[in-house]
Amino acid sequence: MKNEILKYYPKAEDAEKVTEHYLKELEDVHSFDLENTLLATSICVDDINVSTEFRRIQLRPFIMGGLAGVPFVGLTGITAFAHHVPDDGYAFIFYGPHIGVTKDGTLGKIRRKGQAKNTTCCGALALGIDLINDDRKIQEEESDDFWSQYDYQESRLIKVLQPHKQRILKSEHPIWEATEVTYGHINKFMNKLVESRKSEFNCKKIALLGGIIINTDFSEDDFVEIRDFNVINI
Ligand SMILES: [Zn+2]
Repeated sequence: MKNEILKYYPKAEDAEKVTEHYLKELEDVHSFDLENTLLATSICVDDINVSTEFRRIQLRPFIMGGLAGVPFVGLTGITAFAHHVPDDGYAFIFYGPHIGVTKDGTLGKIRRKGQAKNTTCCGALALGIDLINDDRKIQEEESDDFWSQYDYQESRLIKVLQPHKQRILKSEHPIWEATEVTYGHINKFMNKLVESRKSEFNCKKIALLGGIIINTDFSEDDFVEIRDFNVINI
């Protein structure tokens, strides 16, 4: 299983190992008091994203992520999170998109518990790829108020993918490419949110940890490939 994942994500590690590694680093290197730390996540709403929730942090989690892990809560959400962190405490934000890899190495799918067939993962990104591949469908959807109102997050996600349409569709693995594009977007978006509302935090430090979550069939452990780690002093 791990070998299949490493083909696409050479720096991926077991999710439990990653969480322990970074929690230890926060404590030992950056002097975080985990009893006095509030966790926020910006990961996809998908029910399988549980193994990377940093269980040792007691105050948890403020949920910033919507479909595909985009921090749809925006400036209002980051401000609310900032106001919830313990006085003189610490803030920790984990963010990123996710992608499935089945036992036989199929990208963008997983076998979920109780199901006989594989399903898409991340389903929101898989749908996004289908939509950007069909100009007529996009035009139809965009002229439909019902879609933009009742599928707001997916309609925004399309705007993230569309500028990279050629790169995604020409890729050998469009779902891998779309996940990369989405990571870039989430990383930029999250850093911008924190930077623009830094003065709202009444704590000592903010840690930002970003990566790609790699989900596997239900009987296997999940993996994470960390891409960015940054600690900001307030
Ligand atoms: Zn998803």
